[in-house]
Amino acid sequence: MSATHLRPTTRPVAAGIFQGSGPQTLLVGTRCTSCASLYFPQSLSCRNPQCQDKKIEQALFGQRGRLYSYTVQAYRPPPLFQMDDWAPYALGLVELPEGLRVMAMLTGCPAADLRIGMEMELTTEALYRDADGNAVLTYKYRPVSDSQNAP
Ligand SMILES: [Zn+2]
Repeated sequence: MSATHLRPTTRPVAAGIFQGSGPQTLLVGTRCTSCASLYFPQSLSCRNPQCQDKKIEQALFGQRGRLYSYTVQAYRPPPLFQMDDWAPYALGLVELPEGLRVMAMLTGCPAADLRIGMEMELTTEALYRDADGNAVLTYKYRPVSDSQNAP
């Protein structure tokens, strides 16, 4: 039996959004080589109206940030969105030290324990299993377990 018969056990929910998994996860975005503006998800061009050159390159970032705002998604999103064992979940806006805010599902603590300004770290979790049994992963932010988030 060749290696091609070994079924992958996980795959990202979409290509080109994040790379790695668990604590090694990084967001895949773009950086303008002219004005240094960052975009996530990836942008085809720089959207800074003052920028003349607008050349972009892929950039990896987002391992840590601070919770800027959040809400609880209390109804199930319509199809295309898939999630096994659906339950309401927190959706957060995380401010990155790289200078942008990123929307992401939150995990790692009950919504009632979330606090604006908490230090968050990027991770991955399975959303659902596909028809081949692969766990389909998405990126999420969770409170950093050490230090600064203790009450
Ligand atoms: Zn630019």
